[in-house]
Amino acid sequence: MKPASFHYHRAYTAEQAVTLLAELGDDAKLIAGGQSLVAMMNFRLARPAQLIDIADVAALRYVQHDVDGLRIGALTTHHAIETDYRDVLADGFEVIVDAMRWIGHLPIRTRGTIGGSIAHADATAEWCLLAVLLDAEIVTLSVRGRRSIAAGEFFYGFYSTALEPDEMIVEILFPAPARHAAMAEYAQRHGDFAVVAAAVNLHLEQDGSLRGGRVVLGGVGPVPVIADAATAVLSSGRQLTPQAATECGSVTADSLDLDDAVPGGAAYTRGLVRNLVTRALCQAAQLEEVVR
Ligand SMILES: Cc1cc2nc3c(=O)[nH]c(=O)nc-3n(C[C@H](O)[C@H](O)[C@H](O)COP(=O)(O)OP(=O)(O)OC[C@H]3O[C@@H](n4cnc5c(N)ncnc54)[C@H](O)[C@@H]3O)c2cc1C
Repeated sequence: MKPASFHYHRAYTAEQAVTLLAELGDDAKLIAGGQSLVAMMNFRLARPAQLIDIADVAALRYVQHDVDGLRIGALTTHHAIETDYRDVLADGFEVIVDAMRWIGHLPIRTRGTIGGSIAHADATAEWCLLAVLLDAEIVTLSVRGRRSIAAGEFFYGFYSTALEPDEMIVEILFPAPARHAAMAEYAQRHGDFAVVAAAVNLHLEQDGSLRGGRVVLGGVGPVPVIADAATAVLSSGRQLTPQAATECGSVTADSLDLDDAVPGGAAYTRGLVRNLVTRALCQAAQLEEVVR
């Protein structure tokens, strides 16, 4: 399949890109790594008449710390995170580095970007889960200025977000390290999007007791879902043992309102949730998983 014809523009700065977006109107679309958009164009699921290539906006390729947290430029690729910036992320943001191995294959990771992934808003995409898990802020730019959107309010539904048509994501801010966080997934083949993914972030006392935490699930709804039932268990103050992790996995799975429209059906999805939440909790707390 080949895409419908389009006009091609190249931007070298974020300001140039958003000026073009404003001038060209609703028919314009940004292209970053092209790893999702090109496939959609080839299948004619997207037919932008004007394409604005932002891959050369080099100033948006960075990872840096400041007083507000960890800032990642929107054009930073998945592969740069797992290679060039591994050391910068080694002080509490290891879960971000670890999550990159789940994204497609190496050629996809060398071109695909964090900004593109979050704007595309696949409900099982690793960056979308991480953003919700870690209370990220999505920073956008348009000719009207900058704004910051909490990840929890950014994802509206399947491939639908709070982004306005003339806005570009320029940065993702992760406000706090997550020293006990992990992600576990199941995909049909390595490199495929996950069928179900579970991401956890634990607040543990020195003695291993739980002081709170969050479980975020992908593959159980149109957006990454915070599992409230797990939050209750993780706030209980008890010790996180492998048995407690298993219990939390079961409570989470049983609490989900799933219909048979989810791939594989509700019972299959529930089983995956149970196991993946348990596994992610054990990994986050560095416990041996109880094999059942
Ligand atoms: C075979 C295959 C397997 C894959 N597996 C996975 C996987 O397991 N997990 C996963 O998360 N992803 C997976 N992907 C997708 C990959 O991660 C993409 O890199 C990502 O979804 C989109 O990033 P991109 O930079 O390529 O964006 P593009 O494809 O260029 O753009 C995607 C969308 O985002 C918009 N956009 C891009 N950048 C911005 C910006 N800065 N501001 C606003 N809008 C923007 C575009 O207009 C477009 O609508 C896979 C892709 C392929 C082809």
